[in-house]
Amino acid sequence: MPCWRARAAGVTRMVVTGASRADNPKALALALAHPGLLWATAGVHPHHAAEYTDECDAELRALHAHAEVVAVGECGLDYFRDLSPRPAQHKAFERQLQLAADLHAAGHTKPLFLHQRDAHGDFIAMMRNFDGRLGAVVVHCFTGTREELFDCLDRDWHIGITGWLCDERRGAHLRELVKHIPANRLMIETDAPYLLPRTLKPMPKDRRNEPAFLPHIAEEIARDRGDAVASIAAATRATAEAFFGLPAA
Ligand SMILES: [Zn+2]
Repeated sequence: MPCWRARAAGVTRMVVTGASRADNPKALALALAHPGLLWATAGVHPHHAAEYTDECDAELRALHAHAEVVAVGECGLDYFRDLSPRPAQHKAFERQLQLAADLHAAGHTKPLFLHQRDAHGDFIAMMRNFDGRLGAVVVHCFTGTREELFDCLDRDWHIGITGWLCDERRGAHLRELVKHIPANRLMIETDAPYLLPRTLKPMPKDRRNEPAFLPHIAEEIARDRGDAVASIAAATRATAEAFFGLPAA
């Protein structure tokens, strides 16, 4: 089972991303089955935005009654693939921001786990409508420009870095940018089963990414920042634990 390989690799606490109506309950079930090892998020990814109905909104709100569901999302905007029509993306994102704002107003603040690709301007504008009404924010799997990075950091958001930075074709710019992310705003993630790091050796035959490969991303980031791997591992762990509000180990 992958979590045993992850634990053997030193990855001992993980947050499983829920990104669709079908998968959110599965992410929660995993978290409930592995207390202290796994937690879940619940949200609707922009690719699935068309499924965001009133019923879906109610399902999400019920999922967020569980303490094991530690963030709202994955949600956001994706104009790169445009798998859902943009009006549907805007509606689904807006409703999940409202859900997060409602939790915050009720004293049950949960951070937001956000996806943004080729939609920075609209993304910032929609977030601005909720200024002061949300908890902490992470822009997960950051792949954007220097200007976009500083826009996010100026708003005190967290930045999630994946094995994208190991992709010499499209992620090379991140190797310079990661130096500018304060340690208390930097989180690392695999985006498994996607984004197998292209610098991983040996490569698994099935090309499937998994949490056990997270240390490879920590090593690459440490090298780019000129930090010790152990200090990046400790800092990103502490930042993620504080962000998601995980109990002390
Ligand atoms: Zn994403």
